Amino acid sequence: MAEPTSVFTRLVLAPNAGPMTLEGTNSYLLAAPGSASVVIVDPGPDDAGHIDALVGHGPVELVLITHLHGDHTEASAELHRRTGAPVRALDPAFCIGGELLNDGEEIAAAGLRISVLATPGHTADSVCFVLDEDGAAGSILTGDTLLGRGTTVLARPDGDLGAYLDSLGRLKNLGPMTVLPGHGPMLPNLEEISSAYLEHRLQRLDEVRAARERLGANATVATVTDAVYRDIEPSVRFAAEYSVEAQLAYLDSAGNDLTS
Ligand SMILES: [Zn+2]
Repeated sequence: MAEPTSVFTRLVLAPNAGPMTLEGTNSYLLAAPGSASVVIVDPGPDDAGHIDALVGHGPVELVLITHLHGDHTEASAELHRRTGAPVRALDPAFCIGGELLNDGEEIAAAGLRISVLATPGHTADSVCFVLDEDGAAGSILTGDTLLGRGTTVLARPDGDLGAYLDSLGRLKNLGPMTVLPGHGPMLPNLEEISSAYLEHRLQRLDEVRAARERLGANATVATVTDAVYRDIEPSVRFAAEYSVEAQLAYLDSAGNDLTS
């Protein structure tokens, strides 16, 4: 089943719901009206039924990857085998028969112009795909950089808060585009969501800074997580610890502790 999400996009929800994936991974089909071929963004998990659902909408011209996590990329090899479509990513290890993506590149495929925007933070290789002409304000596929619900984890080993704050600032400047996230429901306004994420991140950072000062010599990733994420579900505690680790690293990097 492919559910329309904008003029140029349809959603195929993968059957991998969980505490970190919400309802499951959102794989997207992209095509201009009248185009015979489609572009797939994020193949998702290696699930036979999901891959069948992705390939049932016309020839696959290209597969694009928002970032390297397995819940977005595991089906890449099988999808490539079945369709021959090149798989393109920012990380060379996740390209199959296709070239590396470049920040700022414009891709022409399935009757569309797709712009590549590097947005490191969740991972170093995270990118968003912008469809300027999709509806009145355009749309953006954000992978795990912005989610339909909750907040993004700064993942180990290369999640980076400084890079993430810069990325959120870049996204905010793109205006009120429709947000098509890697998990959870679509959201109406990129500018508003990016601002809310920025505010949330800076507030968390203040809490982490305060907790570290209060704990003094006893401040560790575990004790700061206990202090800041008080009612966290045990199943996602590791994710909170990753984010605390990234925030402590940010505070330790030169100058950042003096800015607020
Ligand atoms: Zn991810």
